[in-house]
Amino acid sequence: MNAIFLGPPGAGKGTHASRAAASLGVPYIGTGDMLRGAIAGGTRVGLEAKAYIDAGDLVPDGIVIGIARERLGMPDCAGGFILDGFPRTIEQAWALAGFGRIDRVISVELDDEALIERIAGRRVCGGCGGIHNVETLGGRDECPVCSTPLARRGDDEPDVVRHRLEAYHRETAPLRDYYMGLGVIKSVRSDRPVPEVSADILAALAE
Ligand code: AMP
Repeated sequence: MNAIFLGPPGAGKGTHASRAAASLGVPYIGTGDMLRGAIAGGTRVGLEAKAYIDAGDLVPDGIVIGIARERLGMPDCAGGFILDGFPRTIEQAWALAGFGRIDRVISVELDDEALIERIAGRRVCGGCGGIHNVETLGGRDECPVCSTPLARRGDDEPDVVRHRLEAYHRETAPLRDYYMGLGVIKSVRSDRPVPEVSADILAALAE
């Protein structure tokens, strides 16, 4: 199964993409995670990408296509993969068509108002990479899984979030039509409990 998870920031695509990858036993590939890793590692890609991410802008296609192509060429992707956050522009989708077969696209959907509220409460773990929300943390500021202190992502600050949503509506939302045309897209609303949404996604992937 080669699948893409498409959706606005805060819709839960990272959570659901990693749950689906674990269930199916295929690698989870998040370009946002890869770029943050490159920034933390001080690589050339990281240095190039940092200003764009901090501002809530999309990183230029050439950089992101390069890291996605390299990652999908690794042997662990031969038996399938779940892509989270790539492609995000039509140019990226066209490029991907040249180096990755796509069986299914899951469009994870949520209204803008709910997205903004979710992102305001989102906390990430610097240790295991887990994603949590203040709503379910009950006042804890440490990761419930590995006890590392949780933090808000720099690009989850409200003015940056607004910018990211604009970029999503302008650049990424049109990809729904592109994949609709290829007949591979399924939409799943994520304003329900995580296990329920995950079950619907697994069913959509199995169709
Ligand atoms: P994410 O973790 O998927 O929300 O991505 C965080 C940030 O990384 C985005 O706001 C973009 O600045 C950048 N990014 C991740 N994936 C892509 C992509 N496919 N194209 C351009 N920028 C990306």
